[in-house]
Amino acid sequence: MDNIIKIENLIFEYKRDEDQEVIRAVDQVSLSIERGSFVAIIGRNGSGKSTLAKNINALLLPSSGEVNVDGFNTRDESALWKIRQTAGMVFQNPDNQLVSSIVEDDVAFGPENLAVEPKEIRIRVDESLKAVGMYEERMKAPHLLSGGQKQRIAIAGVVAMKPKCIILDEPTAMLDPKGREEVMTIIRKLHKEGITILLITHFMDEASRADRVIIMDKGQIVMDGMPKQIFARADEIRNLSLDVPLPVELAERLRKEGFEVPLEIITAEEMVDFICQYK
Ligand code: ADP
Ligand code: MG
Repeated sequence: MDNIIKIENLIFEYKRDEDQEVIRAVDQVSLSIERGSFVAIIGRNGSGKSTLAKNINALLLPSSGEVNVDGFNTRDESALWKIRQTAGMVFQNPDNQLVSSIVEDDVAFGPENLAVEPKEIRIRVDESLKAVGMYEERMKAPHLLSGGQKQRIAIAGVVAMKPKCIILDEPTAMLDPKGREEVMTIIRKLHKEGITILLITHFMDEASRADRVIIMDKGQIVMDGMPKQIFARADEIRNLSLDVPLPVELAERLRKEGFEVPLEIITAEEMVDFICQYK
């Protein structure tokens, strides 16, 4: 299998300044991510998801173990920019990611840092803004845009660096339903174009649309599989203080009422199809 990310026995520990207490945020994680796949990572607050993501992007370096991104080890300082460019990151709060007073300057910021030629930057900025459906807004001030639009600009800024992989850490957490849908549409589009997607989310409907779902708990990977396999284990998921997707819950209730709803039904579309065919 062609894996773009390879993590072996990763341990990451934070040391608190006040009392020197050591917090093990990622505890012996080994994980490979297939090139071109769409992987969702879920887990309760504090389970280590963001710490894992930052280790992939070399914002944090392992306390022990290895992280390889497209063949580059994150400990290799000379590969730092290559790694950051290969695996771009999008964070939760769009306001913290936008630095310029004009949308297109913001998108240019990443490639400028990579010393891309000005002519090429112009092309990439236009292409990236079109890819996220924000080309018309290119001369606007970011602070005048909606949350969903801002997050799309942040994604365009990463796309302009031509990443092979994009890691999104709860990108829709601060958005309204419309903004969430806008951002998810863009994420799916980028995935279809061949970019590997790592989506950290606490929305189960987003996770149910990935190729693979990974559940973290206490710094470890506790479940890993296709969404249909994972969400069929509803009780285990609830025991990890997580919700199951709404259609899964509905299916359970229908089953209790005597309807034979297959376990494979996890998305709203599948549930609608099932109900429409039910005789
Ligand atoms: P998640 O993203 O799943 O909510 P995090 O990776 O943010 O989890 O946090 C994992 C653990 O590491 C938590 O116990 C959290 O309190 C701790 N932690 C996160 N960031 C820091 C930090 N900068 N300093 C100390 N501890 C931290
Ligand atoms: Mg987090």
